[in-house]
Amino acid sequence: MARIFWVKCPHCHKRFYAATVDFRHKGRKLWCPFCGAEFLDDEAEEITE
Ligand SMILES: [Zn+2]
Repeated sequence: MARIFWVKCPHCHKRFYAATVDFRHKGRKLWCPFCGAEFLDDEAEEITE
């Protein structure tokens, strides 16, 4: 089972999750499925691992 982390979008403030191996500390932008914003994990309003 892939590890995931929860992230809170800094734009619409909704939570979604992403694969840790792909997006955590990778400098790769996350894409919010609610508002379409793109942002790095460091820019997230909140991270829950
Ligand atoms: Zn959003």
